[in-house]
Amino acid sequence: MQTLQAVRGMNDVLPDEAELWLDFEATVQDWLARYGYRNLRTPLVEHTALFRRAIGEATDIVEKEMYSWRDELNDEDLTLRPEGTASCVRAAIEHSLVYDGPKRVWYAGPMYRHERPQKGRYRQFHQYGVEALGYPGPDVDAEHIVMCAALWRELGLANLRLELNSIGSPEERARYRAELVKHLEKHHDRLDADAKRRLQTNPLRTLDSKNPMVQEVVASAPSLLLYLGEASLAHFDALKRLLAAAGIEYRINPKLVRGLDYYNLTVFEWISPDLGAQGTVCGGGRYDGLFAQLGGKPTPATGFAMGNERLIALLRDSGRKPSSRPPHGYVIHQGEGTLEFALKLAEELRAQNLRIVLHAGGGGMKSQMKKADGSGALYALIVGEDELKAGEVSVKPLRSGGPQLRLAHDAVANALKGS
Ligand code: ATP
Ligand code: MG
Repeated sequence: MQTLQAVRGMNDVLPDEAELWLDFEATVQDWLARYGYRNLRTPLVEHTALFRRAIGEATDIVEKEMYSWRDELNDEDLTLRPEGTASCVRAAIEHSLVYDGPKRVWYAGPMYRHERPQKGRYRQFHQYGVEALGYPGPDVDAEHIVMCAALWRELGLANLRLELNSIGSPEERARYRAELVKHLEKHHDRLDADAKRRLQTNPLRTLDSKNPMVQEVVASAPSLLLYLGEASLAHFDALKRLLAAAGIEYRINPKLVRGLDYYNLTVFEWISPDLGAQGTVCGGGRYDGLFAQLGGKPTPATGFAMGNERLIALLRDSGRKPSSRPPHGYVIHQGEGTLEFALKLAEELRAQNLRIVLHAGGGGMKSQMKKADGSGALYALIVGEDELKAGEVSVKPLRSGGPQLRLAHDAVANALKGS
């Protein structure tokens, strides 16, 4: 029979690799708690209308990347979430989360986008996302950037660059958009099909086109920053001052607009030069209009999301080894009644916080000893018929040359802990 394989662009993470994931997740969750963020969990599936309204019709995600289907049983249009912010805001509105004041939350988990799979770009990928709901900034904008820098330090990633921009208010962007379209139309013959199509729908996206010919046209376009009004500039200046005070280096990139429609004012990306074309490991910005756009009370908010696969690739390439947690003991048993004794022993030791693997699957002493060795355990804990009769265990060190000991079963935990 033909064997089945995983869906293209959706990856298995095998146990060796998963160790690195677990370390990464532990570090991130610890870091989130230190900044006072609390976990918000939302479903992987939402009504399609949520993403269309939040992310915007004329975006890559909504135009071509969503896994959407019609649930005939319930007559609903559903979508696997392509990102986390829309769901967070939907949930915050639905449960009046910011009713009694602003909230700091984080989410994590898989996201789904129907992209062309390649290094650093998958159809199921994972994010940690951080949202500050109900804060007008720029203090929390700065907090987010400062906390990212702290996480990169903690992960030992020294090579990430920060790009920063302000895309102003919707009105300021609308005025800029008209000027940008004029400029792009002057160079119509040098635009590619995407840029031409976006002239009508989303011309700002052309600013971060990857096509060199289009980039040349864009290079001579007027700068969005020149269209910002007083309030937007004041917000941006205050953020820049806070970053300078915190010793954060950044580059202003007036072409940085990000792929989703809901942003305003602050936008930023952290980029690694070591990942090739898929170098952005984290991106975010302010989305003051999104609550109202989804039918909620107007609420300022800002957030960012990081791509776990890209960050873990950097950790792996930096030679980072996952923390090693070998079993303390591997319990070997042979003879009538020894399995029952071994089962009890293993449970006693685990109750003492020790990592214990109990041999399963039968086999003689010699083959069990081989398994104990292969497990990486520090000790083989041997229960034969002699030991059973005496209520004792033979404790054999596997990683150091010490002597084999024979101990009462309730003395084993202390012996293993002392090692
Ligand atoms: P890109 O420009 O690389 O397509 P994006 O702007 O679409 O990124 P966001 O929606 O801002 O990405 O998501 C935040 C982060 O999630 C990205 O910076 C990236 O690290 C990660 N990410 C996004 N799409 C993918 C994907 N298809 N596979 C793996 N990681 C991804
Ligand atoms: Mg994308």
